[in-house]
Amino acid sequence: MDYRVLLYYKYTSLDEPETFATEHLDFCKSLDLKGRILVSTEGINGTVSGTVEATDQYMEALQSDERFKGITFKIDESEGHAFKKMHVRAREEIVALDLEDDVNPRELTGAYLSPKEFKEALQSDDTVVIDARNDYEYDLGHFRGAVRPNITRFRDLPDWIKENKEQFMDKKIVTYCTGGIRCEKFSGFLLKEGFEDVSQLEGGIATYGKDPETQGELWDGKMYVFDERISVEINQVDKNVVGKEWFDGTPCERYINCSNPECNRQILVSEENEARYLGACSHDCAAQESNRYVKTHNISDEEKTQRLENFKDLVHQ
Ligand SMILES: [Zn+2]
Repeated sequence: MDYRVLLYYKYTSLDEPETFATEHLDFCKSLDLKGRILVSTEGINGTVSGTVEATDQYMEALQSDERFKGITFKIDESEGHAFKKMHVRAREEIVALDLEDDVNPRELTGAYLSPKEFKEALQSDDTVVIDARNDYEYDLGHFRGAVRPNITRFRDLPDWIKENKEQFMDKKIVTYCTGGIRCEKFSGFLLKEGFEDVSQLEGGIATYGKDPETQGELWDGKMYVFDERISVEINQVDKNVVGKEWFDGTPCERYINCSNPECNRQILVSEENEARYLGACSHDCAAQESNRYVKTHNISDEEKTQRLENFKDLVHQ
């Protein structure tokens, strides 16, 4: 384990994000870091991989920069890089929530809960715990009893909340996400919407999983991550599997992208069923001319036709 993966963000004032992005990219490249960083006038949001030495230098550089004072890094050990390239991009927001009336988390955000406090909230009857991530992230793993908004993009979450408002209005609300950044704005949005008692898991699931007291307890399955690892363990006490295989519903934690490039949907699929169903989420996707699985596995037309027949045996498709 000579490498590390860092996850971090900081809401702060950043002038000229484009210039910052260019310079920061050079800096990251000089350290041979790889990963994805978004910057905007509201701050920085990044995840990078690199050697222990390089990540040490990087963290030191950010921590000693007045603008990022107090920034915290979630650190995972790794066997190598978790990304192929290094990108630093200037954007409108460091996490796109696209609110008509934007929220500044430095002015309005939910109360911060420590992992221990969050664990207590999870077990409390008058509290609703809302997962602020996407459906495919939830499906691989989530906190026991958490609400699953059926959204595929974070910016659809505010509308989902508005549609389901009555369910939660008179309850204590607690939100969580991977590293904490999505909850910063989302919990602020909830307060603005009129929810009175809103809090968020500080440092997200990543911090909760490493906390010596909670040790990830009450987390089911694995945590989805946006790098080549795809998933990481959280619960150190009683691990289990909640992911369900797309075709047969058996326990599964293996994500693939649908082999139809136009679809690309993330589905949990066993190796066996990936072959059986040509790496696709549906008959229509499998039948596509551009099916990636068919191409990379040199499957003949005859064989393709034969495997397409397998979809006929499926009940839920
Ligand atoms: Zn598909």
